[in-house]
Amino acid sequence: DAKRQGRNTWQWYCGDSIDNIAEHVIIRRELQEAIQENQFEAYYQPIVDASTGCVRSVETLIRWHHPNKGLVSPGVFMPIAEQTGQIIAIGRWVLERACHDIAQLNATREDPLVVAVNISPMQFRRSGFMDEIKEALRNSGLPPSLLELEVTEGTLMSNTEQAVALLNEVRDLGISVALDDFGTGFSSLSYLRDLPISKVKLDRLFISGISRNVKNAAIVQGVITMAHHLELSVVAEGIETKEEQVDLQQRHCNLLQGFYFSKPVPFDVLKYLPPILTPL
Ligand code: C2E
Ligand code: MG
Ligand code: MG
Ligand code: MG
Repeated sequence: DAKRQGRNTWQWYCGDSIDNIAEHVIIRRELQEAIQENQFEAYYQPIVDASTGCVRSVETLIRWHHPNKGLVSPGVFMPIAEQTGQIIAIGRWVLERACHDIAQLNATREDPLVVAVNISPMQFRRSGFMDEIKEALRNSGLPPSLLELEVTEGTLMSNTEQAVALLNEVRDLGISVALDDFGTGFSSLSYLRDLPISKVKLDRLFISGISRNVKNAAIVQGVITMAHHLELSVVAEGIETKEEQVDLQQRHCNLLQGFYFSKPVPFDVLKYLPPILTPL
């Protein structure tokens, strides 16, 4: 970990160091293999209703079973896949997998789960994106109302007019959209006002240690109040403690997600998670 930290510091000062470029080239080649040989796995993290603890939805989070590095997290390879365009193939795979898995799980449940899928900027901008979504729904039989797309402010920023048109199309299909990592990008409040979204996800940055940080608490309370006036629901990401859970409940946050309830788990584990995650 110290070594990694050191390397990050190096990158910070030197930009594209030789090390960085070499690693980049290797990961790019390995990703090609990963795509061909199906080394990815979809993990799912439950999101619970803040007032009941019932699992309402799950967020799909990709993992890479690297042949010798073990489990690699998306923070390492997704930025590279985004640069190389490999995200297109990977993103399509995730969408298909997630719809398929949750449609299958829902066949055994009374209350169907919503499945959230992260959408990268390049994926979102590509012309075939809507067709990809429709196909994933058709192939899996998942109703559109049970699919949610998570997009970040950065994804919407580059071409706002086009983004709005696309989001409208998505909504017309009955699919919902959540604004991810809210507050960490170059946010504009007009996004909240103008975009056809239904949810805001508050980044962990503002949640962790909220009861000891009055500034974070002010931001979180402000966003929740504003979102509710705009008829948006709010998800708090990164709940790790009972204290954080209680704090967010008292602020009437709608949904909670974090290690305190469950880490992201493989599909085979998700199947056996209890429907209510914590006695509240
Ligand atoms: P994100 O969409 O904001 O996902 C939430 C991240 O926070 C996940 O990291 C999750 O494991 C982590 N997390 C959840 N609860 C807690 C907690 O209580 N404590 C801590 N410390 N962390 C928590 P992960 O799985 O490493 O994913 C990182 C990012 O990679 C995601 O951030 C998302 O931007 C991206 N990503 C993951 N899967 C996909 C994917 O299938 N497609 C795309 N385009 N991006 C993905
Ligand atoms: Mg997300
Ligand atoms: Mg997020
Ligand atoms: Mg985040």
